[in-house]
Amino acid sequence: MFDTHCHLQDERIAGSVDDILCRAGRAGVRRLLCCGSAEEDWAGVARIGAKYGGNADLCNSAVSVSCAFGVHPWYVDQAGDNWDTELEGYLNRDPSAAVGEIGLDNTVSPRNDVRQIDIFTRQLEIAGRFGRPVSIHCRKAWGSLLSILKNMGGLRCGGAIHSYSGPPDLVCELEKLGCCISFSGSILIPGSKRAAESLKKVSPGKLLVETDSPDILPPGVPGPFNEPANIFTIINKAAEILAKTPEEVALLTYNNGLRLLNRK
Ligand SMILES: [Zn+2]
Repeated sequence: MFDTHCHLQDERIAGSVDDILCRAGRAGVRRLLCCGSAEEDWAGVARIGAKYGGNADLCNSAVSVSCAFGVHPWYVDQAGDNWDTELEGYLNRDPSAAVGEIGLDNTVSPRNDVRQIDIFTRQLEIAGRFGRPVSIHCRKAWGSLLSILKNMGGLRCGGAIHSYSGPPDLVCELEKLGCCISFSGSILIPGSKRAAESLKKVSPGKLLVETDSPDILPPGVPGPFNEPANIFTIINKAAEILAKTPEEVALLTYNNGLRLLNRK
């Protein structure tokens, strides 16, 4: 299984990454993408990538963590003057790193659309120039996201819309712009019909799954924090919605994740 969006560097769980990856490995997770959120946590992401990047043997399971570096829309106001040079430095030092978590979020208050759009588009430009895929967060900003992606002619090296919450009708358009669509534990929330509708619209080659650990603890799973070992709950639910077996969805999303990360 491939958890294509998690935050192992998050201070709530950073002290127990060894144990978390052991449990992930035992559960059958083989690959993870650890996404940064702000300049301050990129060093933590890089440390995790350096330690667990090459099929780390944890509890006799081969687990490999890849890195993504980016400024999340919630943290654009804290980004320093040299955030872009810093980001380029991390990408230069890690040729396999992606760019993320980046994006647009219109639920923040007060609104800072201009700053968000500026930092988001500059990160897309950097990802394009470095030939890296992106992990995108989008909340209630679908119109802006579409126009930005269209203006740049789509994602050059692909990317994922993480924890997809948009309308089912946008799935096809986003796919044409180079996006994979990633689903989190939010598909397990009772009554989340819209997510199930969206899931059914995704092309088989564009489907991804993620935990967004330590957030989005799936209902019924012991907390307090979510972790990559719980990815199977999302795969099981996706399989139920798609009338496939969990093994089929695990293999499909694993291969899609690998293809996205290895795309140049
Ligand atoms: Zn996230």
